[in-house]
Amino acid sequence: MTKRCRVRLCSAQSNRRQDLSTLCYLCGNPLGDVESDDHVVPSTLIQRSQPKVKGFEYAGKLPTHQKCNNHFGPEKYAAKALALLAALDDPNTFLERVLVRNPAIKVLAINADKLPTFTRKDLEFFKITDVRAKEEREWSTPEFFRDKKRTNPLRDATYVALSVLAKSAAALLIKRKGLAIPSSWRIFACPFTGSLSGLNLSGEALALDHGVHAVIKQASNGDWFVAFEAHKVVVFLLFAFVATSPEPITSLGLLDADWFVFESNAINDLLQKSWTKL
Ligand SMILES: [Zn+2]
Repeated sequence: MTKRCRVRLCSAQSNRRQDLSTLCYLCGNPLGDVESDDHVVPSTLIQRSQPKVKGFEYAGKLPTHQKCNNHFGPEKYAAKALALLAALDDPNTFLERVLVRNPAIKVLAINADKLPTFTRKDLEFFKITDVRAKEEREWSTPEFFRDKKRTNPLRDATYVALSVLAKSAAALLIKRKGLAIPSSWRIFACPFTGSLSGLNLSGEALALDHGVHAVIKQASNGDWFVAFEAHKVVVFLLFAFVATSPEPITSLGLLDADWFVFESNAINDLLQKSWTKL
């Protein structure tokens, strides 16, 4: 981070102290006696042994409140959300149809072979009903769906992936780039399935594990751009700290893609607030 930018960011950050060791980056409040260390990149996304393996960067940890650290539940499901997104990107993996006896009920049938690591708890989290042990005549009736909640696994998995990767990218910026914990966050995110290889992005490239990479770059106005690849899903993240138009999104050349925005005072709010589609 340049000196010029550090001054600008600090001036926009109310009266919060900037000493990293005294603030919890998840809620932004001062740390007390009970502290915890939070992995900058969640351990659920890293399969290699940590901390150090030749050829990979160890992103380290940041101090947080114990409660804030334990509270960030979606991290448990991050790898599964990414697997689900990758699976739903393959048209051979799923089938969409309506029930003949009630066309108002839409069914998304997913090939379970493509989600081999999913446990019953994972299926419950994404509100997916396992019908492998049932006959088709049983689950193809409107009565079967009477007590089932309407759901959208693609949307749910997208929001989990965005929240976990945005949190991790924020932690990377704080830990690696000295970003002062701001009094408010405005994060734009654009997810897609694929990898960073071949995109030829400029910036600092971090290899965190097989299939887990980040590229970090600061925009000329002081905002930060993080491209985060995790297990076949890539999210472009723009951390905007100045009240400008979304010019940086334009400059990324992804106008036709789906962009989401999260605005709040604390990263913890990624748990309660939904992303808004732009
Ligand atoms: Zn906290």
